[in-house]
Amino acid sequence: MKVGIVGAGLVGATAAYAIVMRKAASEVVLIDVNKKRADAEAADILHAVPFLNPVDVISGDYEDLRDCKVVVITAGVNQKQGESRIDLLGRNAAILISIVPNIIKYAPKSILLMATNPVDILTQITADIADSYGIHNSKVIGSGTTLDTARFRSLLGTHLEIDSQHVHAFVIGEHGDSEVLTWSIADIGGIPLKEFARQRNILLDESIISSIDDKVRNAAYKIIEGKGATYYGIGSAISKLVEVITRDNKAILTVSSKTKNIEGIENVTISLPRIISGNGIVDTLKLELSEMEKAELYRSAKSLKEFYDSYKTTN
Ligand code: NAD
Repeated sequence: MKVGIVGAGLVGATAAYAIVMRKAASEVVLIDVNKKRADAEAADILHAVPFLNPVDVISGDYEDLRDCKVVVITAGVNQKQGESRIDLLGRNAAILISIVPNIIKYAPKSILLMATNPVDILTQITADIADSYGIHNSKVIGSGTTLDTARFRSLLGTHLEIDSQHVHAFVIGEHGDSEVLTWSIADIGGIPLKEFARQRNILLDESIISSIDDKVRNAAYKIIEGKGATYYGIGSAISKLVEVITRDNKAILTVSSKTKNIEGIENVTISLPRIISGNGIVDTLKLELSEMEKAELYRSAKSLKEFYDSYKTTN
């Protein structure tokens, strides 16, 4: 199973390393406009292979994407301190428009996995380009709130003193400022969060809930303030998504995809829990949200739709 990564910067290279650690592919091809960078990252990761798993890691050009099962897109600028993800739209959309046709030319059957920000709108633009080549929407996946969901689960796990793999909680909506934490349906071992906390004698009051909510929502800003970029979390999320596709795992992950109707807003690309297989997105789960979460999701969808529409009218 061959996997391509276009954009061998911090996120792309970390994703490649995580794919090797997870053995989620047999071959990884790194492509970057900065060829020296792609060569260097491929060599560095290849030198880890004897300690990890037998995966070929090479740098290459678009023709080397032939037969890829998945092509991950991580090319583009990242947020600088004080910038929101939406601020990157103009610059990264231009990059995307130049690379997606090249990917499709050589790997028309691959699943396109978008991670560049603002990921929801760029996933929609990618889906539009793919559609013009007859590629179905289900084959274009945005990493969306996969990372935010992981942040939510890890913080809940730490606070509630439980392995975060047993925490079932989703972040949905925009991968960005308007994202929605689905507190009302979160559970641990089938037990609602507040009841779990009560049984374990751990305080989970409104101020703790609000503090966790804030830490999830503002995680990227905080990390960027401290070290300039985020890449381990998203690198792992990408490797997980790649594994689900290459192994046809039918896993549930909160990825971004063009959605017909969400809280009355039509055709918006947004994250919801979706079943993913080797063929891409198979289905979307319908959640029993609280009225407040539904209203937040409506606001998130509306804001994404407005950004996309205003991009479309000026491009
Ligand atoms: P980076 O600057 O380290 O790497 C970006 C790479 O893209 C560079 O190596 C650059 O040369 C390359 N590139 C630029 N234009 C290109 C082109 N036309 N063709 C091929 N390669 C090209 O940035 P990064 O930290 O790796 O971030 C990459 C993107 O991922 C950013 O948009 C960032 O916001 C996003 N990101 C997304 C998430 C998420 O959850 N989806 C999380 C973190 C970062």
